[in-house]
Amino acid sequence: MTTPLTGGCMCGAIRYTISVPITELRACHCTACQKASGAAGSVNAVIPATAFKLTQGTLKRYDSIADSGRTLYRCFCGDCGSPIYSQRATALDTLVVRAGSLDEAGDMKITANIWTRSARPWAYIDPASKQWPGQPDAPAAQK
Ligand SMILES: [Zn+2]
Ligand SMILES: [Zn+2]
Repeated sequence: MTTPLTGGCMCGAIRYTISVPITELRACHCTACQKASGAAGSVNAVIPATAFKLTQGTLKRYDSIADSGRTLYRCFCGDCGSPIYSQRATALDTLVVRAGSLDEAGDMKITANIWTRSARPWAYIDPASKQWPGQPDAPAAQK
């Protein structure tokens, strides 16, 4: 895939670019992602916030308490409801972009599955991927 990558929401009101290649794709099986997607969870490209540029539209934000106990900003299109990215209140330098909002799939593969202990029984988890039962990078003190 050549950068910048482009993406947007279902109705087209939101458009964005990502200036870096995506190297990490994480599937999150937490209960909040299940509710927010109405599906197995979310699949996310983890990128530096500086690489993301909103080129059209205005995102709405919903502040949720993640299963990790941390506040997560969930940003989505207020017109069609498509989730676009989430961001930890304590790590504003990183964006977690919903991979399904990218225009092109490329040949990306899921590299890690997190919160597998709450995965739906019908969710697919590639046995070759890295797996964590909860949050992989959260020391107990960090919120
Ligand atoms: Zn939309
Ligand atoms: Zn999640």
